[in-house]
Amino acid sequence: MEGLGGPRRIEEKVNMVVKACSNAVRRWVSLAMVLSAACAAQAAEKPNGAHTLTVGEGFVNPVGFHDPTPFFSWKLPVGVRKQTAYHLEVSDHAAIWDSGWVESDQSVFVPYDGETLRSRQQLKWRVRYRDENGKDHGWSEYARFELGLLSSRDWKAQWIRPTAEPGDGEEPVALLRREFPVKSKVKKARLYVTARGVFEVSLNGVKVGRDYFANGWTSYTKRIDTLTYDITDQLRPGSNTISAFLGMGWYAGALGFKKGEKNAYGTIPELLCQLEVTYEDGVVETVVSNSDWQGSWDGPLISSSIYHGETYDARQQVQKWGTVVSNPELGAARLIPKPFAPVRKTERLSTRSINEPTPGRFVFDLGQNMVGWARLKIPVEKGRTITIRFAEMLNRDGTLYTVNYRTAKSTDYYTAAEAGTIEWEPRFTFHGFRYVELSGLPETAVPKKEWVSGVVLHSDLPKLGQFSSSHEKLNQLQSNITWGQRGNFLDIPTDCPQRNERLGWTGDAQVFASTSMFNYDCHAFWKSWLGSMRDDQLKDGRVPHIVPNMMNCISSSGWMDAATIIPWAIYVRTGDIEVLADNFDMMKKLLAWYHTQSGDGLSNKNRGFGDWLQPYSQNKNNNKGDTPQPFIEMAFRIHSTDLVAKVAGVLGRNAESSQYAKESAQLGKVFARHYFDADGKLQNVPETQTGYLLAIAFDLLPEESKKRATEHLVRLVHEADGHLRTGFLGTPFIVPMLDEKGYSDLALSILFKETYPSWFFSINQGATTMWERWNSYSHKDGFGKASMNSFNHYAYGAIGQWMYERLAGLAPDPANPGYKHFFVRPLIASQLDHAHAELETPYGKASSGWKRKNGKIIMDVVVPPNTSATIEFPNGQKSVTVDSGNHHFELEL
Ligand code: BGC
Repeated sequence: MEGLGGPRRIEEKVNMVVKACSNAVRRWVSLAMVLSAACAAQAAEKPNGAHTLTVGEGFVNPVGFHDPTPFFSWKLPVGVRKQTAYHLEVSDHAAIWDSGWVESDQSVFVPYDGETLRSRQQLKWRVRYRDENGKDHGWSEYARFELGLLSSRDWKAQWIRPTAEPGDGEEPVALLRREFPVKSKVKKARLYVTARGVFEVSLNGVKVGRDYFANGWTSYTKRIDTLTYDITDQLRPGSNTISAFLGMGWYAGALGFKKGEKNAYGTIPELLCQLEVTYEDGVVETVVSNSDWQGSWDGPLISSSIYHGETYDARQQVQKWGTVVSNPELGAARLIPKPFAPVRKTERLSTRSINEPTPGRFVFDLGQNMVGWARLKIPVEKGRTITIRFAEMLNRDGTLYTVNYRTAKSTDYYTAAEAGTIEWEPRFTFHGFRYVELSGLPETAVPKKEWVSGVVLHSDLPKLGQFSSSHEKLNQLQSNITWGQRGNFLDIPTDCPQRNERLGWTGDAQVFASTSMFNYDCHAFWKSWLGSMRDDQLKDGRVPHIVPNMMNCISSSGWMDAATIIPWAIYVRTGDIEVLADNFDMMKKLLAWYHTQSGDGLSNKNRGFGDWLQPYSQNKNNNKGDTPQPFIEMAFRIHSTDLVAKVAGVLGRNAESSQYAKESAQLGKVFARHYFDADGKLQNVPETQTGYLLAIAFDLLPEESKKRATEHLVRLVHEADGHLRTGFLGTPFIVPMLDEKGYSDLALSILFKETYPSWFFSINQGATTMWERWNSYSHKDGFGKASMNSFNHYAYGAIGQWMYERLAGLAPDPANPGYKHFFVRPLIASQLDHAHAELETPYGKASSGWKRKNGKIIMDVVVPPNTSATIEFPNGQKSVTVDSGNHHFELEL
């Protein structure tokens, strides 16, 4: 967008002035504030309009938008302190909503207040604002958006699939096609398409769009997302062909780790597709999926399975097209435009080295555990099959370690029609891997690195933040967290991306949600998944422990509380109130269920996953750790109640808010009285780090025992030789809570530990992603138990939040969500010489960085326009609150 040019220039200017000024500034905060004021004033001399206009959850000029009552957001140029009023105008052919001047500093998520928008409607909008001096900076550039098909009533298409029986491939792939004429000059053409399964549509042999695994995975019996493509430029005069590959995907393919689980939603995939062509003369013609189409199962894609891989036989081409079965009943599921970015290719990794541990089997190392598939450019022999296997790790002899995939075969096959060089990649499968093994190559061929590259695929979310420091292993940890996120954000948030699982585990999701929002813009991604959670909530209020819930899984505390924890985390980090309103009923239903279980008293239920995978657990029978489940259930119940009280408060439902606050306080008392003695020591349950941590983090103890409880926790950490003894639920809290309660050095020492169990321990064993267990592999002991040994599990990446918020010091303020106001409070770690975080907030770029220089600490902070930040200095100096601008401080420690 052109509007971006101006602000960038101003930002540069501000930076120059900061540099120029910084020599003059030596120590004092007050001086630094004068500096930032001067910089801001200089920049403001060059006024400019609002830029980066987005609709909904950050969409730039979307086609196929989902929300008929959207929100509008914009950013102000660097140099503007504050917005004091805005004026917003939305039009299609004529103005349809004009806000008039509104005295307000709100520049994000401003709700549309005109007539509800319609399917296909094309709109443009612009905004102007007044700054802190009341100056009107004029209209912004126009931004645009176009609605998709908002309801089933918009569809004239029918569900289709080939009439013939599928072939005997593991998960056969259907082909569908139809020819149609384009009669005159096309003004606009749109393709609306979805599937019960996964699809790839082509027009005249060219793939439409850049998306993979469309339409994604929702709770298909309740909601099916649809895609909209602008295909105006892909049509040609005369005869055109639309064709589609249609795979089983999550809908009908193998899914879930129970034996032989398949067909979670249906047995045969189906396509629904509607092409609307508007000619220059205004005539609209529609081509829809119906009985006019042709179908076949006989294409080269013999089988394609998410878990098991893809089999492609280039010799096999459709000889004879057959008819299709068409079904005009659209079904009960809501058809809605996909409300977040689809999966796309985002990067290609090159091979680093090649080995041949077994004659004829070549292992290509991409140097990074990743998710996606291998792209091949290799010599082939006619009729010979190349076998492509994958692994995250190698056995000691250099062969692939694949047992941790469990029953997922994760193998691709390519059979060549002719001798020569082929370029190939699959369509409807994905693998979690670092190593690719090829066999079946021509005997004389000498493998080259260029033969194999790794195509990285995940939901195509904008990158938001970055964390870096002077410590190599800490930077590796940040990289591992980010790769863990990329690999497991493939349309839904999954536990792991490689074995016969890849499910939307709610517990893993809730611990990682806040961290994820630093790294990528997951706002719409999480909101959509919460929609599936609402769809799959049980009538009695329980939230399943996987979402979408394809295995009839039910409840576990710490997992189902994702229903309260994630919406709140989104709200705090974006300022979007809608996410609270949308999920409020779900939250209340969950609390009502908790109430049916234990009323106003203690829980006595031994259920759920406990503190999953706690190291050195005394409880050898399962993976649930030593913190008893009734304790965990009660702690999470109170935490959820507390969050719902806050949510109700934000939504202005004050009576409910105080009722839930009261309930949480009362339950807290019951909890504290039973589980803690007067000395703040755990009683009636084994003493565990997680036991103390949940009580401290969820604020469940009376003031007088909090301090003592922390001291007991510290004792347990020392008894563990300074190590953590926490599982999935306790680990996110151990470092942040010790830090918050005054034990920052101990917190740091846990994070920087090199020995088991710790973050750096896995890095010392070669981790390039987060692992399911700290010792999923060790040089000394080899591999952990294969039955649960993922090398790409983001849960322990939850530490990322603290790295951003404390090591670099950039933290949101829940009272002023979305970084309208935020905190800068870096912890000057003795292990570091510098740390830096930056984040594209809803208002623009914020950053916080510090470094040691000549015995001083230099802090540089960027506060976006229309926000403010409170800076808490690490040397105990009085905090200051600053406005938008670049702020520079030099501190004596
Ligand atoms: C998954 C998890 C999940 C756990 C719950 C595992 O199979 O991989 O990450 O949270 O089960 O028990």
